Amino acid sequence: TDTDTADEAVRATCDDATICKRFATSKGYWKDPYIQYFVRSVGERKAPEINRGYYARVQGVNFLLDAFLKKTQCNCQVINLGAGLDTTFWRLKDNNLMPQKFFEVDFPTIVSRKIHYIKTKPPLSKPIIETHSTDSLLLDAHNLDSDRYCIIGADLRNISDMEEKLKKFQLNTELPTLVLTECVLVYMTPSQSSGLIRWVAETFHTAMFINYEQANMCDRFGQVMIENLQRRQCMLAGVDTCQSLDLQKERFLRSGWEHASALDMITVYSMLPQVDVGRIERLEFLDEGELLQQLLQHYSISWATKDKLRLGLSQVSF
Ligand code: SAM
Repeated sequence: TDTDTADEAVRATCDDATICKRFATSKGYWKDPYIQYFVRSVGERKAPEINRGYYARVQGVNFLLDAFLKKTQCNCQVINLGAGLDTTFWRLKDNNLMPQKFFEVDFPTIVSRKIHYIKTKPPLSKPIIETHSTDSLLLDAHNLDSDRYCIIGADLRNISDMEEKLKKFQLNTELPTLVLTECVLVYMTPSQSSGLIRWVAETFHTAMFINYEQANMCDRFGQVMIENLQRRQCMLAGVDTCQSLDLQKERFLRSGWEHASALDMITVYSMLPQVDVGRIERLEFLDEGELLQQLLQHYSISWATKDKLRLGLSQVSF
């Protein structure tokens, strides 16, 4: 069916993200010693604009995530929805910023692939085994569940099924919880993504949501981006890509969140530690800044908090 074709195309996007991140790290934009185990070769050259865009995305998301972990002193959970082949678990372990438990959800076929890589690459499996205390480690073809890391195969559009699986693997609704969606909500209808955002707000009393996605797509440049997604058949009709930053904030505030912020990636880029930005800008020559500006303007990070425990989550910002 059309839906199956679309889902297959959506699943393929996780390789794009990993391939681009792998290339940017090979150029020195940031360090990720684990990504090589998920994509073997560095692959073909990517334009400097693309590399800088991925730098802003990864550093921007990491900045907010780390700020949440520090505010909660790691006495929290992280749930990465549509995590694909993301390597954040290993980064947090190496940086002594591990939450009580790190969950990931993606389609079962993606999860099986990720687990296969983990099982066959000791640098990936070692940190999981090291942080596990008993002999009950679950690591078969489709499931990974350890004390600190759990990967679940589920469809994010079926919230009750996902919730059941998360609870089966000891999701604790009383712990401060961070939910991350990095380039994921765009593959759902507005009502499906709002449903997910509302579910998080209703499930946890103290929580933060970080979302990275396209924004401001109503102009010519945005239309070309949308056409590219449609050509690859990974976008269903009815996705609200025109979303302004105000609408992104509103989507949270209408769904049970106390505070919400949204910034386009030009702004995020300008707020990242400028010494490091200066360093990466010297890595590759950029012909003219126009394309980078266009690109950064059409992506955004939005985040929202609710804070019954009064940890000061609303202060988390760039
Ligand atoms: N978050 C990762 C990153 O930024 O590197 C991967 C991003 S990739 C563009 C989108 C991911 O979301 C894919 O791995 C895809 O399988 C997953 N995804 C999209 N829709 C989903 C759904 N309905 N259920 C589960 N996973 C989904």
